[in-house]
Amino acid sequence: DRAPVRRALISVSDKTGLVEAARALAEMGVELVSTGGTRKAIADAGLAVKDISELTGFPEMMDGRVKTLHPVVHGGLLGVRDAPEHKAAMDAHGIGGIDLVYVNLYPFEQTVAAGADYATAVENIDIGGPAMIRSAAKNHGYVAVCTEPADLAEVIAELQAHGSTPLSLRKQLAARAYARTAAYDAAISSWFADALGEAAPRRRAFAGERVQALRYGENPHQSAAFYRFANPRVGVATARQLQGKELSYNNINDTDAAFELIAEFDPAAAPACAIIKHANPCGVATGASVLEAYERALACDPVSAFGGIIALNRPLDAATAEEILKLLTEVVIAPEIDADAAALFARKKNVRLLTTGGLPDPRAPGLTFKSVAGGFLVQGRDDAHVTAADLKVVTKRAPTEAEVRDMLFAFTIAKHVKSNAIVYARDGQTLGVGAGQMNRKDSARIAALRAADFGLDLTGSACASEAFFPFPDGLIQAADAGCTAVIQPGGSIGDQKVIDAADERGLAMVFTGVRVFRH
Ligand code: 5GP
Repeated sequence: DRAPVRRALISVSDKTGLVEAARALAEMGVELVSTGGTRKAIADAGLAVKDISELTGFPEMMDGRVKTLHPVVHGGLLGVRDAPEHKAAMDAHGIGGIDLVYVNLYPFEQTVAAGADYATAVENIDIGGPAMIRSAAKNHGYVAVCTEPADLAEVIAELQAHGSTPLSLRKQLAARAYARTAAYDAAISSWFADALGEAAPRRRAFAGERVQALRYGENPHQSAAFYRFANPRVGVATARQLQGKELSYNNINDTDAAFELIAEFDPAAAPACAIIKHANPCGVATGASVLEAYERALACDPVSAFGGIIALNRPLDAATAEEILKLLTEVVIAPEIDADAAALFARKKNVRLLTTGGLPDPRAPGLTFKSVAGGFLVQGRDDAHVTAADLKVVTKRAPTEAEVRDMLFAFTIAKHVKSNAIVYARDGQTLGVGAGQMNRKDSARIAALRAADFGLDLTGSACASEAFFPFPDGLIQAADAGCTAVIQPGGSIGDQKVIDAADERGLAMVFTGVRVFRH
């Protein structure tokens, strides 16, 4: 099941590493054939290389739209070498076998990401390249297909060691090749859907590049891996791990929740820290310094913070690192990490330290997904952002300036808490978080219980509810706990009763008009 390589067809837009690879092949006596630009690059390096036109008898034409789409090329790729009829056809038409293909495609994804106009985008749809990749991959019984330098390096290593490639490798290469053309087509169809303004196209294709295989999923008996979207339109994951144990499935899920939350806090306004457990915040705070933000976030629930994820909106400094190291922490993520902070972390090699280089824009459009049995749900990213100007005062008493600040802070966090979510906050610090309950009253009660557990006084605090109060009971619970200001979307048929209950207790209440469920 080993196959020799006598002739290679190379046609690449990204010519990185091209000459070195071509030289390695030439040195093993492999005949090289290439398209215009690729042939020139190889020839300029002093290597012998044939132009594809010599094989096809046709020039490249129509702005390069037709270069390799020819029976001599596809016959050479697809011909089954030991099938008599195929052999006869190859002989009759002067078709020589092509045993190795190295093709990377017109950079459609990069062209679109750079904001190209419609015509430029269309011209960057590669046709002949994917056709060759697909032909070669289909005929993996004889042909090795490479779509990136790492693939070619594997093939060259095999050829140098054994003079041929094994079928197992050619199958792997074929699988990767079809994933590559699928990703390419997915990017093209997403771009069309965007250009047409279709939020819900009738058919959708996605493709991912594996970032890492994971030891297991949410539980040890579940397999798992982390993929980065190959479609630029859905965004790409960019965090870099500087140290620590391998990230687990749950780590990645929780760290994502932590960083999405902290990105809501403009680093120019104040340092902020979020501590996350099981994708819910157990404490979030701003402070005069990163250290103070961390300490105030921790104070909200130092018990749950154990084994949590810490996210910062500013670079991690040494003073904060020193404090964080006192706690058992799974992951720390920040835009950057000071050198002396990194040096301190080197003492605790297990802690996973991630940097991102910046913060994502929480208002940026994007898509999120959820799998359901037999399909998946797609929705626009929750880019809701509520400001003071959006608030509608519904009670007799209007909130004070400080209450408005506290309410907006609490509501921003409630957006990142699993429903039903209740958040108590004051002076840029969460005081109690109630998450994931099946009724709002229980969330309000649990948030207050937590505050009491950790000696935090809720008097004069703000209460945020991520969805409306259907009944007064949840609001009464919050008022009894000491809250004086309430922020919620409004919109329930029970609104008036809730407003009356607020007025009876002298509360200030505002409606956002925006619901921020997170199920
Ligand atoms: P070169 O720089 O060698 O002139 O062009 C290389 C690029 O052309 C590769 O990205 C390859 O996928 C693409 N290509 C090869 N054959 C064809 C073809 O017949 N049609 C189109 N549109 N692109 C091709």
